[in-house]
Amino acid sequence: MTFDQLGLSSEILRAVSDEGYINPTPIQAQVIPSILAGKDVMASAQTGTGKTAGFTLPLLYRLQIHANTSMSPARHPVRALIMAPTRELAMQIDESVKKYGKHLALRTAVVFGGVSIEPQIAALQSGVEVLVATPGRLLDLVEQKAVNFSKAEILVLDEADRMLDMGFLPDIKRVMALLPPQRQSLMFSATFSGEIRKLADSLLKQPVRIEAAAQNTVNESISHIVHLAKPDNKFALLLHLIRQQDLKQALIFVKTKHGASQLAQMLSRHEILAVAIHGDKNQQQRTQALAEFKNGEVQILVATDVAARGIDIDKLSHVINYELPGNPEDYVHRIGRTGRAGSKGKAISLVSEHEKELLANIEKLLNTKLQTEQVTGFDAEFSARGLPDRKNRTPSSGSRYNKPMENGGSERGGKLSIPQRHPGGYRGRPQRYTDPIFTQPYIPQAKPATLAVSGQSETQSPFLAYKQEKKTIPALFTALAKNKATPED
Ligand code: AMP
Repeated sequence: MTFDQLGLSSEILRAVSDEGYINPTPIQAQVIPSILAGKDVMASAQTGTGKTAGFTLPLLYRLQIHANTSMSPARHPVRALIMAPTRELAMQIDESVKKYGKHLALRTAVVFGGVSIEPQIAALQSGVEVLVATPGRLLDLVEQKAVNFSKAEILVLDEADRMLDMGFLPDIKRVMALLPPQRQSLMFSATFSGEIRKLADSLLKQPVRIEAAAQNTVNESISHIVHLAKPDNKFALLLHLIRQQDLKQALIFVKTKHGASQLAQMLSRHEILAVAIHGDKNQQQRTQALAEFKNGEVQILVATDVAARGIDIDKLSHVINYELPGNPEDYVHRIGRTGRAGSKGKAISLVSEHEKELLANIEKLLNTKLQTEQVTGFDAEFSARGLPDRKNRTPSSGSRYNKPMENGGSERGGKLSIPQRHPGGYRGRPQRYTDPIFTQPYIPQAKPATLAVSGQSETQSPFLAYKQEKKTIPALFTALAKNKATPED
């Protein structure tokens, strides 16, 4: 099938061809005709399948009759609302709407939290036909009477499963109550739980159900490798894999915000350009980190589940699970960053004894046993029987510790595989770590390390890790160095 056969307009086909797309992906071939026919749709589609164009192209087609170049805001009411769980995903959808709608006189805006609300109010006041939004900020704008949905015709909920995971259900219901009941509603979700089906029942009218990929399965172009690793050997194994496989780019997942910053710093100390992206970073830092990773300036992006949700990186070859997610469905989301739009991808998981149960849950969800490979010099074996030691158990799926929140709450949950700088924190007995990486001061090897300013917090300067001069700075001068070394603040 070609795009011409789908019944889209010449302006939209031109934009598609500008992107170099030749054939619609399977999800596009399935959803576009239904959306064009005005039907409600409930689609199970993972990220990477082309689902964004799947709903954006027909949405633009349906709004094309309203296209106009009038300067009057009244001629540009909100006609379509697209809701997404995270800022990054909202930004990406907005980019897609702009790309695919570039030959149409329709206006688009994106609104999300963590940045000033005033420019968003100004954009809405001048009128937009397509509004992409995260739920929290959208409701702030509603409260400020900056947005009116009386002319809305189409609602899209993207990554609906993640919205529910993040506790957005009440917000979604509030927004739904503001929309005209006569509308077309589309729901996209990578996974379909009972909760999602319930939401779909309340949101959609006689929806067409489309499953682009079988539920809870992963893209076949991704190969999965599990390396068993002793917890105190994990970092060394990670370094070994990055170097030995000469990884040009990889997205590494950890469970906590702190763990993400810490791992990025540790990699930077070993001359691997790495930045962290998580809920504690401000929007500018997150956008910059993502941009630098996308354009290849940064080799490794260390992310938490919440921050990485929906991130689209062209031709990303490797996703590494430094820590397995507490929720097995997050494994599917994580590895969906690679093997996109038909390219090959590799998902590597470093799994320690205490994560055995999490691995079993993932394998159960995928209904397949993931291939395990030993790396010479990093041998590790799981004890054959029973569950892992109770005190080392990570909260299992469904635990409130694993439930992500808009501000990245879940990223606090779970136990770090990365040993803490102050083991044990202020409470409880200190843990002991034996890996010299954590217990001994860093000694530069052949070349000096890139990270040099001790005590520099990553929230102050996330990019410091590799932008810093390659020399050690005595502690006395760190305050001075800090002032100099926060270029983006
Ligand atoms: P998505 O699943 O919407 O995040 O899209 C994943 C990637 O596939 C994006 O980088 C799109 O640019 C790309 N893509 C979308 N549709 C097509 C298509 N028909 N042919 C080739 N690439 C596509």
